[in-house]
Amino acid sequence: MNQFQYTRPAETGTAIKALTKDAEAHFLAGGTNLIDLMKMGIVVPHKLVDINHLPLKQIQKTQLGLRIGALATNTEVAESAWVKEGFPLLSLAINAGASPQLRNMATVGGNMMQRTRCPYFFDTTMPCNKRVPGSGCGALAGINRMHAIFGASDKCIAVNPSDMNVALTALDAMVHITGPKGLRTIKFADFHRLPGEYPELDNTLQKDELITGIDIPASPFTKNVYYLKIRDRTSYAFALVSVAAALHIEGNTIKDVRLAMGGVAHKPWRLATAEAFLKGKPVSEDSFKQAAQIAMQGAKAYEYNQFKLKLAPNAIIQSLKMASGLAS
Ligand code: SF4
Repeated sequence: MNQFQYTRPAETGTAIKALTKDAEAHFLAGGTNLIDLMKMGIVVPHKLVDINHLPLKQIQKTQLGLRIGALATNTEVAESAWVKEGFPLLSLAINAGASPQLRNMATVGGNMMQRTRCPYFFDTTMPCNKRVPGSGCGALAGINRMHAIFGASDKCIAVNPSDMNVALTALDAMVHITGPKGLRTIKFADFHRLPGEYPELDNTLQKDELITGIDIPASPFTKNVYYLKIRDRTSYAFALVSVAAALHIEGNTIKDVRLAMGGVAHKPWRLATAEAFLKGKPVSEDSFKQAAQIAMQGAKAYEYNQFKLKLAPNAIIQSLKMASGLAS
């Protein structure tokens, strides 16, 4: 059994100092990913820094939109009246993820930090560059049905499993981070990274930094929104493909749009070129089909996930139809 130290600081600065001193120390929030990894021996910490007593749970309105503390649970965010009213896409996406029990424990910061991975990551008999850098990728010539069709490298083809992350990418959220060098704020879209040569790195957070919260700017996307998640069973399963779609419609014209996909890349995948195409276009199935075609440019499948090349554009079209009211 791995023995580890446990500490429960009440201040953010103390928590960061406790982590900085030990390369094998980890922050513990809801524990819904970390504890699994510890049980499987994939993470073997020297120390757990339990951050659940830090004052980072608030959900509050701001002049620019909404601020959500990193320790707010997924349930608290999804059920917040402010989120439901002003950012319903986020509520839909969170409720599409995991199970009620997990959403009650999982925090916003922890959800962002859950490992991008595939089943081979958990199988210590198989190579995995993410688990053991330089060991190879078992999925490249293995069962790669769940894997990426965008942005992968020959080092890793896993996908980010979070539904919340897809909505926050679409909604142009910002991430607040603190560490020994002070505070910094980055775009949510820049938080997660593509695998490239370093698939062991899921995001751009430094080892001794802590997410303190996120800001979501107010937007007109309060009515015509939809989160479509296609999966092997109707609950408690990762997405084969998901789409977060938000439209601002005046008359029959698309004034503004946000689109992001899950289950297709190592990070939430924003469909910027499809968004640019749709602005000013009429609300029609033809507009949505053309946008889906644009969004799929550059997609590349592997042996067992060829079906995603058809599923993904169909999901884009259907999510836009649902968001716009063309389908119900
Ligand atoms: Fe590991 Fe990534 Fe390859 Fe899966 S796809 S085996 S997580 S390196």
